[in-house]
Amino acid sequence: MDFDLSDEQQLIRESAREFTDKEVVPRARENDRNHHFDTELVGKLAHQGYLGAIVPKEYGGAGLDYVSYALLVEEIGRGCSAMRTVVSVQTSLVCSSIVRWGSEEQKQRWLPDLCTGEALGCFGLTEPDTGSDAANQKTRARKTDGGWTISGAKMWISMGNHAKVALIFAQTDPELKHRGLAAFLVPTDTKGFSTQEIHGKMGLHGSDTASLALDDVEVSDDALMGEVGEGFKIAMSALDSGRYSVAAGCVGICQGSLEASVAYAKEREQFDRPIGSFQLVQAMIADMRVQTDAARLLVWRAGYLKDQGRPSTTETSIAKLYATEAGQNCSHLAIQVHGGSGYVDDHPVERYYRDVRVTTLYEGTSQIQKLIIGRAETGLNALVPS
Ligand SMILES: Cc1cc2nc3c(=O)[nH]c(=O)nc-3n(C[C@H](O)[C@H](O)[C@H](O)COP(=O)(O)OP(=O)(O)OC[C@H]3O[C@@H](n4cnc5c(N)ncnc54)[C@H](O)[C@@H]3O)c2cc1C
Repeated sequence: MDFDLSDEQQLIRESAREFTDKEVVPRARENDRNHHFDTELVGKLAHQGYLGAIVPKEYGGAGLDYVSYALLVEEIGRGCSAMRTVVSVQTSLVCSSIVRWGSEEQKQRWLPDLCTGEALGCFGLTEPDTGSDAANQKTRARKTDGGWTISGAKMWISMGNHAKVALIFAQTDPELKHRGLAAFLVPTDTKGFSTQEIHGKMGLHGSDTASLALDDVEVSDDALMGEVGEGFKIAMSALDSGRYSVAAGCVGICQGSLEASVAYAKEREQFDRPIGSFQLVQAMIADMRVQTDAARLLVWRAGYLKDQGRPSTTETSIAKLYATEAGQNCSHLAIQVHGGSGYVDDHPVERYYRDVRVTTLYEGTSQIQKLIIGRAETGLNALVPS
């Protein structure tokens, strides 16, 4: 077992750290305060090659391995979860789906623009009445001569208001249940496609979240990605990459919580000594360190398996479950170390605490991850009651 990163991975990690400190960290608080989706910063992420990190070079991507991808996502996640969400959605949910399931024509049409940030993509799986039970899609796709007509609604879609292409999951034949699902790459300027911003989020104020309406949206046959009936498989394979990315981002929140707490504990004095010299404060720091390490190693293991082309669904769920829960714990402890100062946004920990909350919800709740892990252990499916 080799826990060392290669020289190239070290370099990627260092340059992502430098980029985050120089470009992402200085804007994070203002973007959060102003609820600003910072498209200029998205352009800089693209320029760094982060939006197509795991996309093969022939399609304009950086062609990185999954462990390297985790390293850069961790750094962006330490800086700003709203920007990390952009990387996760664009790279993992949209690009990796097209790489795996798209036709050559679809790859050529979308991937280069997605990698350069010329186009943003969104992932439309969740609906107003369909969340954890993702196979139960109400959005309908009806075959027409030479194409499809899609009607329905999508909810909670990250980057939905800015995307040029939406990966939309729809039911072609309700009687076939999940075997009737299909995935479509829908240009968002198609007639009948509209979006609305969702306001009032607890965190991720710098990210864009939308509801989508598809009102008899007509697309041609070449919008269908994969075969009819493969929609559910496509969604699950996208989530395999997306959950990994969310987990890596949460390692960044853990690390950021730890670093901010150590700095503050050394500087803040009470009872004529730095608070870091109190055992109970060190205990909080030690808990953060242990959870950060454990989360990171679980992410790296899942990445290692992905790089080997080996099955990694269970290990990805384990990493996602652990890292997202660790993110909640570490950001909570970090506020405790900061005392009252942790309750305002002078320090990043207040934002970490709000931003991390969604990570145990999206891309499969913690309960859903446990059901995936439990199914792997027992061979019994508690996810879909029979
Ligand atoms: C900010 C934000 C961004 C998002 N971005 C996207 C996006 O880009 N694309 C997209 O498609 N979706 C997105 N989502 C949606 C997200 O993936 C869903 O919210 C999530 O899958 C949970 O679905 P739900 O909200 O409908 O909750 P529900 O499925 O209604 O779950 C409610 C509760 O019931 C529990 N539950 C449900 N079923 C079971 C079961 N079988 N056993 C045990 N417990 C169960 C859940 O764990 C949860 O605690 C986003 C959500 C948010 C908040």
